[in-house]
Amino acid sequence: MSLTYEKLLDRVYAQTPKKATSGERFERPIAESTIQGPKTYISNFEDIATKLRRDKKLLAKFFAKELATPSAIEGKRLLLNAKINYRIVNEKLTNFINAYVICKECGKPDTHLEQTGRDQLTLVCESCGAKAPVIR
Ligand SMILES: [Zn+2]
Repeated sequence: MSLTYEKLLDRVYAQTPKKATSGERFERPIAESTIQGPKTYISNFEDIATKLRRDKKLLAKFFAKELATPSAIEGKRLLLNAKINYRIVNEKLTNFINAYVICKECGKPDTHLEQTGRDQLTLVCESCGAKAPVIR
């Protein structure tokens, strides 16, 4: 990145009214889950991962572990190999968002994950710069 471009960016940020960021409310996605026979499908699974800016595989693994059932990504949806109540699915999604998306310091969702060990992820906040290990 060239210096001039960085300066330009600084200017853009400086000119952005504070209200635009602080007033913005993060809308937590809701999992649209339905039970079909012995299985449960989350039909908007891909949308959720995209909205949260998280790897689909990470989210699929999380659901599988938390719900103690195998999961499989099928196109845009997630298949869970058990009958799981809508409320429970969304409870788990909330847990995922709290652990893997929301910054513990400032409460904002503008974060990303960094692999900081063989089996350790760190949540890095793009808003306030806080870093915290993800507790699983
Ligand atoms: Zn933060």
